[in-house]
Amino acid sequence: MTLPPVITLDGPASVGKTTVAHAIATQFGYLLIDTGAFYRAVALAALRANVPIGDAERLIALAAQLQIEVLPADGSNGVFYRLRLNGEDVTAAIRSADVEQIVSQVAAVQGVRQVLNATFRRLAAQHPRVIMVGRDIGTVVLPDAALKIYLDASPEVRAERRRKQTGEPTSQDIQQALEQRDQRDSQTTLFYPAQDAHYIDTGNLSIQAVIARVQDLIADWQARHGQT
Ligand code: C5P
Repeated sequence: MTLPPVITLDGPASVGKTTVAHAIATQFGYLLIDTGAFYRAVALAALRANVPIGDAERLIALAAQLQIEVLPADGSNGVFYRLRLNGEDVTAAIRSADVEQIVSQVAAVQGVRQVLNATFRRLAAQHPRVIMVGRDIGTVVLPDAALKIYLDASPEVRAERRRKQTGEPTSQDIQQALEQRDQRDSQTTLFYPAQDAHYIDTGNLSIQAVIARVQDLIADWQARHGQT
């Protein structure tokens, strides 16, 4: 069965990208690469090494020397992959509030993006089937990807999803934090759907329905490429 060798799944924070990507990766045998986790790993390393966020040169040098590895996970307890930074498991550490606070600023450094983009392209070239999750994968990182998807939802819907995922009681603070990160991201880096991306407004869809839509897109791709 021929499958699209590379699938890109872009969209804003907490829209459900990783959950959807994990389901597809498990079903069809793709390697899941969550690019946001790599930006988080650079932010974590910067915090640990006391590199000031304003020091672009040191941030770029730091990013270039990090060894970041992704290992598959079965999705239990909301863990869709494990991330190793220089051999250490940082799966939980990259989700800390401190990292959350600075990651957009780290990601705004063009040199950091160039270093990580080269890593992402290398990973995509090394593996036969990759589903890559992020913000600019279909536009910048892998513009020639076989199948591009963009997931979207309003900040209210995403905050509610995040609340359910984390089990936190009020969604007000979560929504505020999400909106702040959206705003910081949009101020520093332009993220938008690729022209040839399939746009899915997930606002009124369950996660299962979104997964079904992606499965349909894969089936359409196969039909167009003479395989089912
Ligand atoms: O996807 P996640 O929310 O974990 O991403 C964390 C941060 O990494 C984003 O808020 C954004 O600043 C940055 N990012 C990026 N480009 C990507 C993926 C993530 O700038 N492709």
